[in-house]
Amino acid sequence: MEASAKMFSLKGKVALVTGATSGIGQRQAIALSEAGASIIAVGRNQDRLDALVKEISGNNIAAAYAVACDLATADLSSVFEEVLKTTGGVDILCNTAGVNLREPADQITPESWQQTLYLNLTVPFFLARELVPLMQQRGGGKIINIASLQSERAFPNSAAYGASKGGIAQLTRAMAEAWSSEEICCNAIGPGFFPTALTAKVFDNPELSAKNAAQTAIGRNGEMKDLDGITVFLASSASDYITGQVIYVDGGFTAK
Ligand code: NAD
Repeated sequence: MEASAKMFSLKGKVALVTGATSGIGQRQAIALSEAGASIIAVGRNQDRLDALVKEISGNNIAAAYAVACDLATADLSSVFEEVLKTTGGVDILCNTAGVNLREPADQITPESWQQTLYLNLTVPFFLARELVPLMQQRGGGKIINIASLQSERAFPNSAAYGASKGGIAQLTRAMAEAWSSEEICCNAIGPGFFPTALTAKVFDNPELSAKNAAQTAIGRNGEMKDLDGITVFLASSASDYITGQVIYVDGGFTAK
């Protein structure tokens, strides 16, 4: 293998991906597997997990395992114990599961606030903290969080979501500060507008969708394939000296 290809190879690596049953997490799981990583796919829907494991295993590049759990209630210190015994550890964590309840500010309740902040911000930290010792045993690792345009900008009906995504940008820097000296890099991808279940309401509105596209420098919304390169890059040794960064994959929205 040429040096440039080797740099991006994930052969022999194990990646745990949350939110793997749909949207960005599913795409990341497939991209990482195509680069050679075995995948621990985490989601709530067993049928979708089974389909994903079948699809990934079918490419005959790497193995795939499913863990069905609700991250809002799971015991993060034990829920992955069995699968991690099977894989022998983990090298890459994609903290991708998330919610956006799109509530107007005056309708947010302490419960809905807590639900958003817990899944989008608390789980990424505590899950990473559980897995860091296993990454240390393997000589390093990569943690990839998912930020948002709302890490930088306020959008309507999104106080809790925006707070969680502003938080994840800073948490990414804090995680990098805590663990990078042990070769565990932590970065975040900041997606622009991508068509997933989370953004269905936006993409179902052609006017709004076109308005979003027009706000980018490139002039279009994201396509799922636009996330493959950044995911493999941040998971691979090609990004070994990059840590604590939020990298926007937004067609230039934040540059305009
Ligand atoms: P999505 O709805 O397809 O994915 C969210 C995933 O999180 C789903 O698989 C869902 O099952 C999972 N999830 C939600 N609650 C869970 C729980 N309690 N336990 C376990 N899993 C749970 O939407 P997406 O767009 O792929 O979102 C993935 C991430 O990307 C989120 O963090 C989101 O904030 C972020 N994001 C998306 C966009 C976009 O344009 N789609 C933009 C910026 C950021």
